[in-house]
Amino acid sequence: MSEMVDNDAVSESLKEPKPTRTDERVNPSIPSEEEFPLPDWVADWAREAPKLVVRAPGPKSKAIIKIDREYVSYAYDRCFTFTFERASGASVMDADGNILLDFTSGIGVENAGWTHPKVVKAIQDQASKLIHSMANDAYFDKEAYFAKLLHEISPNKALKGTFFGNSGAEAVEAAFKLSRYHTKRSEHIAFFGSYHGRIGAGLALSSKLKLRYSYGPLTPGIIFTPYAYCYRCPFKQTYPECGLWCMDYLEKHVLELGGPTGQISSIVVEPIQGEGGYVVPPKEFMPRLKKICESQGALLIVDEVQTGFARTGKMFAVEHFGVVPDIMVMGKALGGGVPLGAIIAKHDIMKRWRPGSHSSTFGGNAITMAAGLAHVQAIVDENLVDRAAKLGEYSMKLLREMQLRREIIGDVRGKGLMIGVELVKNQYTKEPHEATTVQGKCWRSGLMTITSGIHGNVFRIAPPLCISKDQLDRSFEIFERALKDEEEFLKIGTSAPPG
Ligand code: PMP
Repeated sequence: MSEMVDNDAVSESLKEPKPTRTDERVNPSIPSEEEFPLPDWVADWAREAPKLVVRAPGPKSKAIIKIDREYVSYAYDRCFTFTFERASGASVMDADGNILLDFTSGIGVENAGWTHPKVVKAIQDQASKLIHSMANDAYFDKEAYFAKLLHEISPNKALKGTFFGNSGAEAVEAAFKLSRYHTKRSEHIAFFGSYHGRIGAGLALSSKLKLRYSYGPLTPGIIFTPYAYCYRCPFKQTYPECGLWCMDYLEKHVLELGGPTGQISSIVVEPIQGEGGYVVPPKEFMPRLKKICESQGALLIVDEVQTGFARTGKMFAVEHFGVVPDIMVMGKALGGGVPLGAIIAKHDIMKRWRPGSHSSTFGGNAITMAAGLAHVQAIVDENLVDRAAKLGEYSMKLLREMQLRREIIGDVRGKGLMIGVELVKNQYTKEPHEATTVQGKCWRSGLMTITSGIHGNVFRIAPPLCISKDQLDRSFEIFERALKDEEEFLKIGTSAPPG
């Protein structure tokens, strides 16, 4: 069942696909200023970032926040007091006119850049013709074209048949249902540090206590096992000498002694953990999982909600591992900013899902199809896979150099422009250092960042892929200044090996 990925069939035009190579880099070099400028379409105001006109939150933002606090649910865990007014390319503006550089892409959503003109036009054109397309009952051109495009860019062009829903969590639910439907089994392997959504199966597959707290009983049949988080290996092993002990543990302990019934339906995995802290597993990790699936007669479900659509320097992160999933879950950048999630699967699996087995009123909605199609097409046409790979390599180099200067940086890891920077109090003890205050400092200096990780100590470097080299440089300057300031405050930088 394992197939090597050779994703070279990416269509430039929707109806007459012309194959182009998008995922191979020949002699990658440090990009020059001219090589990666901002695209022409980025608004003039956005080129001025960072530009701070008032201490945030300014008066307009404060007025909005006041009403919000009274009327909007407190369940949202807002990590900053930013009040969105507009965004373009890799810059965002608040209600008071402060312009910030963006390291978040709206959590991996705006991969082609905020307010990409092709996405804007697609939404406007579609809204004037048809808003709701009744995908449960009727056919709609852009849904068909979009599903065709997703097949063409799927790993090894080996997945065919897309089900569209409204969010990442819904897509996970669809994958979970399809896996049970196909295998007629009801047990699933998931991972420590995983995140797959906040409802139903997605929540049950997510490991963190804070997400699950007081919602039990959750969907049954899920068995958790450690992810290959080598920087903080729960088995205190060292890669590569360990030979991927976590996979041995899954095979020899969890599947034998962990209480399964021998009825594993699927292994559900993020190819790089997102909310878990941008954790990049070793290259053997996904192939080992694939083998375990084969030996168990289970499906490999790969959740690409956060990693998909050129983010990691491949169209999908699983391609870094040379593995083709049985079912692939997509969301976030799939819609380019509109609410959209989907799954695509091996055709023999998808085609056995009989009519009426699953559905959604707004799945395949006209606006989301138009927007998502335009966004993914722009990612392909603008060769953002290559841009993410090269700018990612450049960023990794800068960050690794920064790590030598800044002892607060414990680990730098990533693929493409999905890079995690893990903060510690001491590089030897690896005691986590919570990232919130550094985040605030970046914020006040004009750089929007978000964090993740089981200890809340990992910065996600995930800018829109259209970001220029110059903007990256400016962002890293702000980032390092904030880290230095934090080190001075905490007197980090004087640590020595314990004992
Ligand atoms: N899977 C992964 C890997 C995610 O990162 C997320 C969202 N952070 C989800 C699923 C859930 O997506 P949504 O928030 O759109 O429901």
